[in-house]
Amino acid sequence: GEIRKLDEVVVNRIAAGEVIQRPANALKELLENSLDAKSTNIFVNLKNGGLKLLQIQDNGTGIRKEDLPIVCERFTTSKLSKFEDLTTISTFGFRGEALASISHVAHLTIVTKTSNNQCAFKAQYVDGQLKGPIKPCASNQGTQITVEDLFYNVPMRSKVLKSPTEEFVKIANVVGKYAIHNPSVGFVLKRQGETVSDIKTNANSSYVDNIRAIYGDSIAKEVFEIEHEDDILKFKMHGFITNVNYSTKKQVFILFINNRLVDSTALKKAVEQEYSIHLPSGGHPFVYLSLTLDPKNVDVNVHPTKHEVHFLHEDEIIESARKAVEAKLLGANR
Ligand code: ADP
Ligand code: MG
Repeated sequence: GEIRKLDEVVVNRIAAGEVIQRPANALKELLENSLDAKSTNIFVNLKNGGLKLLQIQDNGTGIRKEDLPIVCERFTTSKLSKFEDLTTISTFGFRGEALASISHVAHLTIVTKTSNNQCAFKAQYVDGQLKGPIKPCASNQGTQITVEDLFYNVPMRSKVLKSPTEEFVKIANVVGKYAIHNPSVGFVLKRQGETVSDIKTNANSSYVDNIRAIYGDSIAKEVFEIEHEDDILKFKMHGFITNVNYSTKKQVFILFINNRLVDSTALKKAVEQEYSIHLPSGGHPFVYLSLTLDPKNVDVNVHPTKHEVHFLHEDEIIESARKAVEAKLLGANR
């Protein structure tokens, strides 16, 4: 047949569908934006596992009115100005793609207020473009992003994501992990119409408070703090792990690298192996680790759906981390 170039809107929609594969992907990007904006309270409201409604309200810096017309275009970001920034960037996320992608596969509304403005502004977007005028409205400082009818224009996606319950569990998982990692920020996760929140942590709580709030008292009572610094490899590690005598029902392995929730199969394996040596009965540990590496050494170009992360001197850093876990486990076992 005749070869034709695809319509730009269709091309963008396909690209967006690859970035945003399910509600939890969208939520993770929105959470990271709220954290980048220095929010201290983040409120997530869901309907049908985020498929019908995914709303996030923060009390961060807000978006300037003059930025609203372009904020949902691809590759627009306030977090990167020069090419060199690519190697030193320490904020989250995929550069300037999250809001654009979401606006191509859902109805997106932003209500935002900066400290410089008397009132808030409301803007709606379709396919990356502003739809209608920007309207003044009343709201507190911060940003509210409302994502409605996710994948309404991607029938294949909606068919695959049949279970709102499954999507809800994935979202709760992401929110819970960010809550543990950010004890200075208060998180609330609520389903529309429900009076009781599914997750609630307070601003300025402790790590252990949040582990208790998310994973329960029995784990919170058993965790040990682990701290490790390697001057030669120039990295730091901080976290909470259960000791060798305590076993959780299901394995929990939470890893943040430079404040981003990621997977590292190699690091997970190394830690698991330590537990299998020192916990021969074969229980499941709870492990939350946060690594801070030189941003120059982390591959920031990871695609948002590929959570597996790689970094320079990976083998040496993992070995150093493993030894620190081993020392902690041996110490805790005495
Ligand atoms: P990126 O985070 O990579 O810059 P996004 O598409 O996620 O790209 O966001 C685009 C821009 O919108 C951000 O750079 C930021 O300026 C602004 N923004 C998005 N969400 C928020 C928020 N919750 N608070 C303040 N600014 C935001
Ligand atoms: Mg972002």
